[in-house]
Amino acid sequence: FQLSLENRTFVVMGVANKRSIAWGISQSLAKAGARLIFTYAGERLEKNVRQLAESLDRDDHLVLPCDITSDEEIATTFKQIKEEVGTIHGIAHCIAFANKEELEGEYLNTTREGFLLAQNISAYSLTAVAKEARPLMSEGGSIITLTYLGGEKVIKNYNVMGVAKATLDASVKYLANDLGKDGIRVNAISAGPIRTLAAKGIGGFNDVLKTIEEKAPLRKTTTQEEVGDTALFLASDLARGITGEILHVDGGYNIISL
Ligand code: NAD
Repeated sequence: FQLSLENRTFVVMGVANKRSIAWGISQSLAKAGARLIFTYAGERLEKNVRQLAESLDRDDHLVLPCDITSDEEIATTFKQIKEEVGTIHGIAHCIAFANKEELEGEYLNTTREGFLLAQNISAYSLTAVAKEARPLMSEGGSIITLTYLGGEKVIKNYNVMGVAKATLDASVKYLANDLGKDGIRVNAISAGPIRTLAAKGIGGFNDVLKTIEEKAPLRKTTTQEEVGDTALFLASDLARGITGEILHVDGGYNIISL
């Protein structure tokens, strides 16, 4: 058993720009020899994603649109993937969204619409994707999603997204149980805060980074590369005994109480 992903194909969903955690994961998977398929939401991002994909050291990637709010679009994307590559060996689901105005102040003010939007894009989408991916993962494989401590404990301003992450964490466990018999593992990486486009929307993000530097056991903030390399481990055969797990890659911050 080894870390190599030679002759394996992974779908990376959620690269927006070079700061995206999905891009850190892409680089780690590509270094290990994986063929990558990128999906993006909205035409605006296509050029970015294509340029980044082309910067990788191989030219067999695919770049496809996939707005995760549409069952039809997810089905079309996976149909295209099936036609182009046949079998896939895993997915990195790196997608979340909530209304900016609901990522500050009191959680109590969350609207029904905002609640459902966050749940739909940030949590349900994993289940929708896993369902379409299953027939393509005939050799088994690894589904990875990204979560955050705000789904386990109250973190100021994280609000509706924290509740969506709690749903996502529970979905990981239920999906792991459903898909285990097919040799498909489902895990989440709970990343420490990283400055990305999505993180910009969260109130007081700079203060959070400062707290991590002071209090996390490793006394530093998490990097895109650290999350990428953990995703590589989870994607590889070295993690063959791990499923339904929420793995913290956060410099140990989650163990600290005061
Ligand atoms: P990012 O902004 O680079 O990535 C978020 C992605 O979600 C974007 O590519 C965006 O296009 C995509 N997305 C939004 N709505 C979509 C839709 N309808 N269909 C398809 N894609 C859609 O930010 P990121 O921080 O890299 O976020 C990736 C994941 O990591 C998210 O799940 C986020 O919650 C999680 N995460 C981030 C941090 C952090 O501090 N940055 C920490 C823990 C977990």
